[in-house]
Amino acid sequence: MNPDHLDQIVAEISGEMAQRVDRGEVASYIPELAGVDPQRFGLVVIDANGHVAAGGDADVPFSIQSISKVFTLTLALGKSGDRVWRRVGREPSGSAFNSIVQLERERGIPRNPFINAGAIAVTDLILSGHLPREALGEILRFMQFLAGDSSIVIDEAVAASEQRTGFRNAALANYMKSFGVLDNPVEYTLGVYFHHCAIAMSCRQLAMAGRFLAHNGRNPSTGHNVVSTQRARRINALMLTCGHYDGSGEFAYRVGLPGKSGVGGGVLAVAPGKASIAVWSPGLDAAGNSHLGRIALEALTKRLGWSIFGV
Ligand code: GLU
Repeated sequence: MNPDHLDQIVAEISGEMAQRVDRGEVASYIPELAGVDPQRFGLVVIDANGHVAAGGDADVPFSIQSISKVFTLTLALGKSGDRVWRRVGREPSGSAFNSIVQLERERGIPRNPFINAGAIAVTDLILSGHLPREALGEILRFMQFLAGDSSIVIDEAVAASEQRTGFRNAALANYMKSFGVLDNPVEYTLGVYFHHCAIAMSCRQLAMAGRFLAHNGRNPSTGHNVVSTQRARRINALMLTCGHYDGSGEFAYRVGLPGKSGVGGGVLAVAPGKASIAVWSPGLDAAGNSHLGRIALEALTKRLGWSIFGV
């Protein structure tokens, strides 16, 4: 890929998105997120050679929210291997990100690690054997290591805001605890979960952190092997099938890449062998995924022929 061509496409798409008036609705159920400016838009693509194409608010940190679930899953698989799959499934949920009905039918075992219940179960695994602040430190340091940037921090105001209002997540966690799916005190597990969702990162930092997923588990610039080839492939498969909640089918149909969204309006997408991509636009669609983020990624994969399903 010619770096100038990539720069031009990223600039074009960023310009087009700045003009759009349909921007979706900024999430308001976490009060601290409700005040984010819906006009924000950032896009960063990092190719296999490490070339960074950046557009819009590429360096403005935002709340990564559920995108953190990709990284906590990676850590939990490193710690517990396939034992993770005793606690959580690998099927798309076909339900809202915070649905409790499904959890009842399936006796406390969440459908996948990317819905809230599944991510809380994964966080509980990481927490076991540690104090909450140690587990959280491990998650944050992992993000800093992957992004090669020690300035990444947790937005304490967002974490506190969710902790005050996260009744639905508390219900999910208590419900799983009643089935013996969580080992730690519910308030500890939820505390770590809310805080890792509140990590703030820019598109540039996020695209950097996702590079190992685009390149068989290895960061091609640093040479660090983060996970095995097989594990990277499997995480990508889960992102494709489960990364956008009940909008995962639509995202695969339109964008054609593994991706994980967060209610902060960010999306991390992976073009295997080609690039790691991060986009941010705070307004969400009805399924809780970034509205313009999806449209921008659709434009990008179309123009570059990057869908994994063909050009
Ligand atoms: N912290 C959010 C929650 O648990 C994450 C949801 C999301 O980003 O989709 O509700």
